[in-house]
Amino acid sequence: AATPILAVSNVEVIYNHVILVLKGVSLQVPDGGIVALLGANGAGKSTTLKTISCLLRAERGDVTKGTVTYRGERVDQLTPNELVRRGVIQVMEGRHCFGHLTVEENLLTGAFIHGNNRRQTAEDLEKVYHYFPRLRQRRASQAGYTSGGEQQMTAIGRALMSRPRTILLDEPSMGLAPQLVEEIFEIVQRLNTEQGVSILLAEQNTNVALKFAHYGYILENGRVVLDGDAAALRENEDVKEFYLGMA
Ligand code: ATP
Repeated sequence: AATPILAVSNVEVIYNHVILVLKGVSLQVPDGGIVALLGANGAGKSTTLKTISCLLRAERGDVTKGTVTYRGERVDQLTPNELVRRGVIQVMEGRHCFGHLTVEENLLTGAFIHGNNRRQTAEDLEKVYHYFPRLRQRRASQAGYTSGGEQQMTAIGRALMSRPRTILLDEPSMGLAPQLVEEIFEIVQRLNTEQGVSILLAEQNTNVALKFAHYGYILENGRVVLDGDAAALRENEDVKEFYLGMA
């Protein structure tokens, strides 16, 4: 098999020096792949993404064991910004827009990593509006007054402004109407096929995640209990019973 672009090996995470939240998680994302990280509330999905994006320290969490490698190099000691420069960016759960800024100003905050080169920024903005036509319409609106779907789009768009090669997407479906969830996943899929962006996405919505992902990992209590091709997971009896709700 081809070497993965992103590899997490045997990672353990502790919060506040006591609670072992990840108990030896390993996973891989192939270059150009869409991989879903599935599991119930509290299983450790967000913690896994924050470990990869080096955001964990800010949450007073500690990686006590294991490694993260990106394009063959250890990245687990970098700062979040250094990782963004290497092409990996996380879109946080809950969207995290600047509510008092306009949609376009929010997008522009994603451009700093390349030193705000004006021509490049204009090009990147155009690309975001190409993929998210709704954001072009709402560009001058205050982000805090846009819909939940538009805020999710703004958050993904802002990440795109850093020209990522890999996006870590935390619960993009959260709080959104089913039709909007589909719309957003379709755009993510286009970013994957047309721009070659690799995607690692954490989702509680197993149905939609396995529809768009190529491969999935199921986390329970900080451990990977099952992984496989998305098609195989969709047919797995346990997955059907416990995660797809159609037993
Ligand atoms: P969710 O969908 O709710 O985010 P998750 O699968 O992403 O769930 P995590 O957010 O990674 O799960 O949380 C895993 C465990 O770690 C939970 O038991 C949670 O209570 C705990 N936890 C998460 N963040 C912190 C923190 N900053 N400090 C202490 N414990 C935390």
